[in-house]
Amino acid sequence: MDLLLELKEIHKKTPSKILLVVLDGVGGLPREPGGPTELAAAHTPNLDRLAAEANLGLFTPVAPGIAPGSGPGHLSIFGYDPFKYRVGRGVLSALGLGVPLGSDDVAVRGNFATLAPDGTVKDRRAGRPSTEENRRVLSKLRAAISAIEDVRIDLYTESEHRFALVLRGPGLGDRVTDTDPQTTGVPPREARAEDPADERSAKTARILNRFVELAREALKDEPVINGVLLRGASKKPAFPTLGEVAGLTPAAVASYPMYRGVAELVGMVPLPLSEGEEDPDRPRTKLEALKVHWSDYDFFYLHFKKTDSKGEDGDFEGKVARIELFDALLPELLALSPDVVLITGDHSTPAVFRAHSWHPVPVLLWGPYLRTDAARRFTEDEAVKGSLGHLVGPVLLPLMLAQAGKLQKYGA
Ligand code: ZN
Repeated sequence: MDLLLELKEIHKKTPSKILLVVLDGVGGLPREPGGPTELAAAHTPNLDRLAAEANLGLFTPVAPGIAPGSGPGHLSIFGYDPFKYRVGRGVLSALGLGVPLGSDDVAVRGNFATLAPDGTVKDRRAGRPSTEENRRVLSKLRAAISAIEDVRIDLYTESEHRFALVLRGPGLGDRVTDTDPQTTGVPPREARAEDPADERSAKTARILNRFVELAREALKDEPVINGVLLRGASKKPAFPTLGEVAGLTPAAVASYPMYRGVAELVGMVPLPLSEGEEDPDRPRTKLEALKVHWSDYDFFYLHFKKTDSKGEDGDFEGKVARIELFDALLPELLALSPDVVLITGDHSTPAVFRAHSWHPVPVLLWGPYLRTDAARRFTEDEAVKGSLGHLVGPVLLPLMLAQAGKLQKYGA
């Protein structure tokens, strides 16, 4: 059953406005047994006040035990079952770089690698070159390879050993196997069409294999970066939009390209953000964009990234500070008078874990039709006492819609 498509039958258009805040990777862990998590350690008077009025719970975006990437984590929050609505690695890389993708373009994630003289993979990341070095080598490749057959080859630096490759041309498929063997001591694989009868994917595979060959030739004098590994060939998926399934007119307020890209996949309009604010999350700029466009949309997705980045850096105090920074902004967000507010994360990124984790994230739902619950703060421990319980999978969207009066009865 796809809950999202069921909403199509029961949604209704109302003027009420929903504000969805995603604090990326906000869930955490204590530094020592019994200690506070990042959220519990943070001084958050405004969030506390809202939590005392709101309903809380815990949220597992994908499934228990699964540490999601930000892509599936966000899709779940937006109401899309991440097991059904998949976005390929190549497309996520390209979206992350803000690369525009046409519906027939194929995006591929590339790694620079070091190959041994016998052609086997010695280092899948070519000793993690600097991003500067990546740029230098990629421009060498660009000069050597601009097209293969009738397909244009576009290359984009991501960071360190990572780059994105976009194929633009007629008749390309994306059901293609990876050349990256995911291990060392073996040769890179040949790209192949998953189904040999799929001529479009066979064409993509042929072009990727030729690209790998030309890249080896172009890099033959390089001491370290002398090969490329490719994976995740994918086209931009055509998902039903939030307008179609839920009647929403949604906008995204996010500064990082990947989140703007994922929001666009579900039909949100990424709002333009003015330049000038030094903070990479640009909280004041985002607030300004919300104010300017508040009357134009009925659903606003507001994203903050640095809670996740600090978690990945292992910077507990830094993550606490980012939570407090959001707390300081909250009164101004609430002053816009949203009818419904939902605050959560797309996964946990505990500073002690230095990576995305599977631990459930607190979720806070505020609106006109609430029960009283015992949770008094937006923290992992308090959320357990909340009346929302433990929510798993893409169920937040219907909760927001219902609270906003945007859903009719299901069935007679
Ligand atoms: Zn994330």
